[in-house]
Amino acid sequence: MDKRLNNAPCGFLSITHEGLISEINQTLLDWLGYGQEELLQKHLEILLSTPNKMIFHSYFYPTINLEGQVEELFIHLKQKDGMSVPFLMNARLYTEDRVERIDCILVKMKKRIDYEQELRSAKKLLEAAYQEKDRALANLEQIHVEIEQQQAKLLEMNAALVELSMTDKLTGLKNRRFFQEKLEQHFNYFHETAKPFSLCILDIDHFKKVNDTYGHQVGDDVLVQLAQLLQQQVRTEDTVARYGGEEFIIILPTTEKTVAKEIGEQIRHTVEQDDWPTGCITISMGIATVTSEDTDTTFIKKADEALYVSKAHGRNQVTHFHEMK
Ligand code: GH3
Ligand code: MG
Ligand code: MG
Repeated sequence: MDKRLNNAPCGFLSITHEGLISEINQTLLDWLGYGQEELLQKHLEILLSTPNKMIFHSYFYPTINLEGQVEELFIHLKQKDGMSVPFLMNARLYTEDRVERIDCILVKMKKRIDYEQELRSAKKLLEAAYQEKDRALANLEQIHVEIEQQQAKLLEMNAALVELSMTDKLTGLKNRRFFQEKLEQHFNYFHETAKPFSLCILDIDHFKKVNDTYGHQVGDDVLVQLAQLLQQQVRTEDTVARYGGEEFIIILPTTEKTVAKEIGEQIRHTVEQDDWPTGCITISMGIATVTSEDTDTTFIKKADEALYVSKAHGRNQVTHFHEMK
């Protein structure tokens, strides 16, 4: 055999048509761990496991006979120590002096298979990493949703707290703080539109006597009843608030003095007519309608002065600041 073929970087094997090894190069002998005399004239099958023998019979020989060549056949050959080594094999039918030979070139596949195995492992790791990433993202998403829910809850609680801080505990009406804010808004609106609005301040007459006669609890009941009654009497756009003690205020938006007085009178009358656990309850009221010179302080003061006049004139009365001049 040619020296270069004998030591070529691939295995070379020539078999007779019956499968006897007629030539084998040193490279393949070294790979398989055999000496030349151990394989020459031996049947190729001594190098093949049973499944590989079947491949030879069912594929290799029929293809060689039919097409004269076999390309890229993946087979395993047994080393002398019994270890199986993967090869890629090309074979071609060669006829010389009417004698047929099958020349085979074999390239070891172990490194490539190891490499493919490594690739498969790396791919699996990558897939696992992606799954982990997806899980982490899903977790993050869940945390995000929970944070949003908590934030929504917090906003709700804040809104409830704000509402609570603006509400009078006993009567459930808006309190003085809410009234001050509302009054400011109405002033702003008045400065924009010049549409006048009015303010009523009302105070229960001789309420101290109610407490003294019937007790503080009944006094509380009267305050709650009056609050409900005021809320029923006003229009939806009006604001009723407890100003403090037994004093209440009502803001009447876009309401000039005549209508404000009518509304005040109506309320006073309804209170007087209502059924009270204490006998008759009456209120005195002072009303002011805003003018362009007013600030919130002067405006409240005007309504208060009108209330004072109602008290001074015998109570159970409505006085508009305008009438005092
Ligand atoms: P006037 O007709 O001049 O308004 O007389 P008045 O007795 O109503 O007024 P005064 O200011 O002398 O008394 C108000 C009373 O209202 C005294 C106070 O104890 C009572 N009061 C204030 N807040 C409450 C409350 O929340 N519940 C009860 N039961 N009484 C209260
Ligand atoms: Mg009072
Ligand atoms: Mg009073």
